[in-house]
Amino acid sequence: MNNNNYQQLPPPQQSNQYQPPQAFVNTQVVLPRNADHSVSPITIQCPLCNQVGVTSVKSKVGSGTLCCAFILLVTTFCCFIPFLNENCQDKLHTCPNCNAQVGTHEYKVC
Ligand SMILES: [Zn+2]
Repeated sequence: MNNNNYQQLPPPQQSNQYQPPQAFVNTQVVLPRNADHSVSPITIQCPLCNQVGVTSVKSKVGSGTLCCAFILLVTTFCCFIPFLNENCQDKLHTCPNCNAQVGTHEYKVC
């Protein structure tokens, strides 16, 4: 008996046929155009020179600082503290490329 019964193997499954394409991650992050509402340096795209950079922050005595000083003067006579403590002062963000002012954060007592 020459039972030539070829066991035909099923064609190899092309398992990678439906491999989902690599998710295209949109790497173009929309950067803020100004640094308002931030007390610490943040990455922005400068509205003037269109350069992306981390802002440099300077502290400045503002109305909130004076208000804080007045409250301290009335209560504790330690009115000089807000002038020394940068956390009690306004923040000015400047562009690292063109030095333009790109944002302010006003210190508020309450
Ligand atoms: Zn700039």
